[in-house]
Amino acid sequence: MRRKIAILGATGSIGKSTLDLVERSPDRFEVVAVSAATNCEALAGIVRRTGAKLAVIADVDRLSDLRQLLDGTNCRIEGGPQALDEVASGEADLVIAAIVGCAGLRPVMSAIEAGKTVALANKEALVTAGALVTDAATCHDATLLPVDSEHNAIFQCLAGSRSEDVSRIILTASGGPFRTASSNTIATATPAQAVAHPNWSMGAKISVDSATLMNKGLELIEAHYLFGLPSERIDIVIHPQSVVHSLVEFIDGSVLAQLGSPDMRIPIAYALAWPARIATPAQRLNLAAIGKLDFEEADLTRFPALRLARQALEQGGAAPIVLNAANEVAVASFLAEQIRFPDIARMVEEALDEADFVNPRSIEDVLEIDGEIRRRVEAAMKASCH
Ligand code: NAD
Ligand code: MG
Repeated sequence: MRRKIAILGATGSIGKSTLDLVERSPDRFEVVAVSAATNCEALAGIVRRTGAKLAVIADVDRLSDLRQLLDGTNCRIEGGPQALDEVASGEADLVIAAIVGCAGLRPVMSAIEAGKTVALANKEALVTAGALVTDAATCHDATLLPVDSEHNAIFQCLAGSRSEDVSRIILTASGGPFRTASSNTIATATPAQAVAHPNWSMGAKISVDSATLMNKGLELIEAHYLFGLPSERIDIVIHPQSVVHSLVEFIDGSVLAQLGSPDMRIPIAYALAWPARIATPAQRLNLAAIGKLDFEEADLTRFPALRLARQALEQGGAAPIVLNAANEVAVASFLAEQIRFPDIARMVEEALDEADFVNPRSIEDVLEIDGEIRRRVEAAMKASCH
């Protein structure tokens, strides 16, 4: 029996890495459903290659183009954000959640409510609705498998251990392209410099998040919800080589780590085959060639986003939603060259300072707060430009 796979965000960086692995093992996996935001040419190509039976384009304006491109195939073609739920809850056994941003939350919830196994790359879904997502997973007997390399590493290190034996989680961070840059250099960073990650090739949004260290902040919140540890038991250490993907410390002082070359196909493969493993073409680790592994403290002065994320986690309630929504708007504005690099963290901090929301009780509450913060941050940005 082949494993039926649905890929939300099939045209992105994680989507492509997933397809690369799945297409190497056609005897194990069958791609049944795929989605993309707007790129119908790429999505149509994926449907033709994989024989997927359902393709959803989130941007309805591109629906007729996609239908035309896939004319004569047996693929059912749908459009609009609601149709993403069908990719998530359809016939797949395993749903790869690889949409970027809070836009991925509703389909992630649909997959969980349908009791699927969900390979979760879309960290923003956990940041914005962590308790709702994990409670729903328990309630609907769904399985969450972390794809984010750090969380996948922790998941591997935890295998078989009792939660009361874990004392601490240590998330590693590469430090991004500005790890050694001065505040003055960082202040004038361009989008091209910010997305040029030293170790990983990723989508634009997460690349900017890696440069501000907001990515590690989002991962801190993600780790809290995935592994149930409070903020003070989740540490962050800068590790420029990105070889040690994260560590778990146990009460006896033992520390387990997962290592590997920085290639997302390793954690994706673990989620695809879990609880087994499959071969990947990822480069093997040659420790003697690497020579040494460095570790250093994160600098919260040059990288205030990390401090803000920890603050949002500790504040709880709607704060992580506010942090994430403000960050999404700010990163998009930075990539569009409308604001400067340090404005990203500044806008997030202002949004957190001004926010006064009650605890979200449903996904609808989360999306309402997310929408409201987006409107506020965009309005504040327009006001400051004029
Ligand atoms: P990407 O920008 O390369 O791809 C995003 C995908 O989501 C694309 O297929 C795009 O069409 C789709 N998409 C974007 N906006 C959408 C919307 N509004 N509605 C529907 N679909 C939409 O991003 P990525 O780098 O692949 O990252 C995907 C997720 O995985 C992010 O949450 C990111 O933080 C996480 N992640 C990525 C990496 C990596 O190496 N790329 C590593 C760890 C975690
Ligand atoms: Mg990561």
